[in-house]
Amino acid sequence: MKVSDRGLWIESPIPMADSLLWTVPLRLVEAVATGRPAELGTVPPPLADRLPEIRDIYAAWIKGGSAVPLIYNRAPSAPDAPQGVSLFFSGGVDSYHSLVKHRDEIDQLILVHGFDIPLTETVFFSTAESLVRRAAQTFGKRLIVVRTNLHWDESTAFTGQGRTPCPWVMYYGAAMAGVAHALAPIHRKVYFASTYAYGELRPAGSHPLLDPLWSTDSLAIVHDGGERRIDKLRDLIVYPDILANLRVCWQSFARPNCGRCEKCVRTMLGLRALGVESCPAFPTPLTPDLVRSQALDAIVVMLWRELLDSDLPAGLKNAVRAAIGSCEAGLPPRTGKPRQELRRLYYASRNAARALRAAF
Ligand SMILES: [Zn+2]
Repeated sequence: MKVSDRGLWIESPIPMADSLLWTVPLRLVEAVATGRPAELGTVPPPLADRLPEIRDIYAAWIKGGSAVPLIYNRAPSAPDAPQGVSLFFSGGVDSYHSLVKHRDEIDQLILVHGFDIPLTETVFFSTAESLVRRAAQTFGKRLIVVRTNLHWDESTAFTGQGRTPCPWVMYYGAAMAGVAHALAPIHRKVYFASTYAYGELRPAGSHPLLDPLWSTDSLAIVHDGGERRIDKLRDLIVYPDILANLRVCWQSFARPNCGRCEKCVRTMLGLRALGVESCPAFPTPLTPDLVRSQALDAIVVMLWRELLDSDLPAGLKNAVRAAIGSCEAGLPPRTGKPRQELRRLYYASRNAARALRAAF
């Protein structure tokens, strides 16, 4: 079945809701980001009463966002709901952790083609789908595969406009809420697995402050999993099937995990700190050189600091310290290559000169 509205669409193998409620989250974010008032149609409670709050949060979080007027009608309450419970499932650490934690309650996993994997990457999506299908079989859950262009980079409604209204990281939770409402006939509750731990929270498209506000009286949307990543990994390492089928990487569409990017390396470090010498999901060995060469940014460096309190071997922990140090000093990472070391020297001299000028 396919639902569509003004350039946006969602496709799934199962019957979907016959209202346009699935369009409301993205239309609201689009309105805040562009400054154009939103016409949102008919919205059921309690979402109808919370739309102004959602708008105000987005207006504060999106660069250039504004608290535009929202035009909509309140639908009557319709609390009757199906009994199913779903989890958005990509096959990464966060979604696996929510699956293990709520395994007795969850009925079905939702895998979306068009979110982190572009619609054009059909071969790689088949690989990702087969990994997720194994997880569904292992845990005895139904798998529902959805295709959609709710990711604005995928949508013909936006690609002709030169730029999308705001970055994906600021609205991926709204897109998930849209899919959750489109699949309303199959569930009364949907889990969104958290990306960030409670100590790392920042404005983001999926957030414990924001996600539950998309709920209606017949569908509860639950933001789940504020535990630290290393604590999630500790709960997962007792499942060999999970370690073999993990997919955490966003950098490669050639294989499930590249084994070299920041997220792959951070996950490998977490596993190593927990005593997992090697994980079959990652194609490369974890070495101090690989760790030291990671270029961290201001957001992920916070996630790396928790590794300093872990039981990593000294060589790897020193490499983690070096990668964090490079980021904090505003220097390129250590790769051992002469050209990169010269760049480090140049940036170190420039930073020292700036510090001297600021001091006097
Ligand atoms: Zn990777």
